[in-house]
Amino acid sequence: MNIVLFGPPAAGKGTQSENIAKELNYFKLSTGDLLRNEANKKSSLGIKIKSLIDQGSLVSDDIINDVIENILSNEKYFNRIIFDGYPRNLSQAKHLDSLLTKHKQKINCVFSLQVSFNTILKRIIGRQVCSNCKLTFNEFFNPPTKENHKCNPKFLKKRSDDTEETIKNRFDTYLNETAPIIEYYKNQKLLYEIDGKNDISIIYKEIHSIISSLRT
Ligand code: AMP
Repeated sequence: MNIVLFGPPAAGKGTQSENIAKELNYFKLSTGDLLRNEANKKSSLGIKIKSLIDQGSLVSDDIINDVIENILSNEKYFNRIIFDGYPRNLSQAKHLDSLLTKHKQKINCVFSLQVSFNTILKRIIGRQVCSNCKLTFNEFFNPPTKENHKCNPKFLKKRSDDTEETIKNRFDTYLNETAPIIEYYKNQKLLYEIDGKNDISIIYKEIHSIISSLRT
């Protein structure tokens, strides 16, 4: 089955999708990670992407949709993708449906992580991402330790868009462009609403138990 993890910035999509991917053998498809990789190459496309990310705006659908098709058409990932950060607007959601039909797959469930703006702000300020293993931590709520993180601490970095100025734009982009998708998936009876302010392990248990019930 294919899964969409949906929610505002810093709702915990990356952390939860990482855990699900590891434990249930899914392929985590994070469009944010793919775009940051391209931005780091400092190609002309990468420079454009970085500027949009740092403004808190979305990157154009054409760039994203091509990447998604490459992965959906790969048999290695057949029916075991967890989408993190995609779809991000209604046109991406509809495009994803048509690609899935073309490649004989479907979305089986959509988890919407619900978190207030104040919680997001606290999470953004403390967020650290390991540039080596890509795991995400938070210096206040989920700090990296010797047990949960094996890489050298020098790899821990702040994201360039995790600033108080950018987060306001990212949250507005979420409300205006991304949140309308909730209705789209609710109408298809695929939506599961999850309280995203709980602890990581509680959220994970809830998601895990829904996935298990859908698999049987
Ligand atoms: P994320 O890592 O999911 O928070 O994404 C970081 C940034 O990458 C977003 O603020 C957007 O600028 C860009 N981005 C990620 N996914 C998408 C997408 N599906 N469509 C357009 N832009 C995206």
